[in-house]
Amino acid sequence: MQSQNNNVIVLEGLSKVYSGNTHALRDVALHVGAGEIFGLLGPNGAGKSTLVKVLLTVVKPTVARGTMLGQPIGDKKTLAQVGYLPEQHRLAPYLTARQAVEFVAALSGVDRSTRKKRAAELLDRVGLANWMDRRVNVFSKGMRQRAGLAAALVNNPKIVFLDEPTDGVDPVGRVEIRDLLIQMRREGRTVFLNSHLLGEAEQVCDRVAILVQGRVVKQGRMVDLQQEGSRQELTVRWTGAALTGNVRALPFRGMQIAPTVNPDGAHQYVFSDLDSSAAQPAIDAARAAGGDIISLLPIHQRLEELFMKIVVDPTTGKAPPPGAGS
Ligand code: ADP
Repeated sequence: MQSQNNNVIVLEGLSKVYSGNTHALRDVALHVGAGEIFGLLGPNGAGKSTLVKVLLTVVKPTVARGTMLGQPIGDKKTLAQVGYLPEQHRLAPYLTARQAVEFVAALSGVDRSTRKKRAAELLDRVGLANWMDRRVNVFSKGMRQRAGLAAALVNNPKIVFLDEPTDGVDPVGRVEIRDLLIQMRREGRTVFLNSHLLGEAEQVCDRVAILVQGRVVKQGRMVDLQQEGSRQELTVRWTGAALTGNVRALPFRGMQIAPTVNPDGAHQYVFSDLDSSAAQPAIDAARAAGGDIISLLPIHQRLEELFMKIVVDPTTGKAPPPGAGS
């Protein structure tokens, strides 16, 4: 667990009501640790972009209690230490990748000699060394995103905000981008990722917060969230007579009792979906019924399962509409 002192973003109460009485953020409290990949997740309309825009001082919050890099939210000077890759960003298509990144560097106030060197280094780092003098308009979506990542790093930022960086990118490009995020973490940067792609967030994020209708409904370390709903899967083998009667009488819940019959005549049963308190009694009961324990495996909760539990309304089976609730 990160101590509060290691946090680069601490939000104690962030609210935003847009004109028209849309409550985009409702008393949001979260923290982001230095050097971690943090995922802000949630359905469309949950308030993710609004939160990032408030941190980048593009949107004025209704209430903001909190700090970024030790300064109050809204402090423009802090932005010199922050990088940003917006969703659907566009580098000028008539510029080469090198010119486009140098242009962003110039806008960020990086001096001329440094920006030439840095643009080349960063484009090399994102795997575009052989493409830096080609125009951006010939690039694939994945290459554009990688050029965008280079641009987001021109001011050597401590925190990089990335809004849906892999959206619309092919699977190979996604892996490349994921590797770049891991590289950023290795360099000691904090990565703040906005995403609706749960499988990807799961693979790369150290911590996540789930936002629904402007409220944080869950946050924590990825490993803890996966552990929270983890289940056990027990495999037991019976040799000799098929003890179907005994198996059916076992006091397990959530069992899957279609056996595999091995060539030696042994029957192998898999009992899935046991919660952790049920695993040991299940082992004892299976042994008492003459079974050999083959394995007991933990099955971690997928982020998607957790998300569905939290986000989906059990009565309608749907996620709530954006801005719903009072
Ligand atoms: P997300 O990024 O999670 O999709 P947004 O932050 O874009 O969510 O939107 C949160 C809510 O605020 C939505 O209901 C959206 O319609 C509303 N909203 C976003 N921007 C504005 C705006 N400029 N004016 C009014 N309402 C807005």
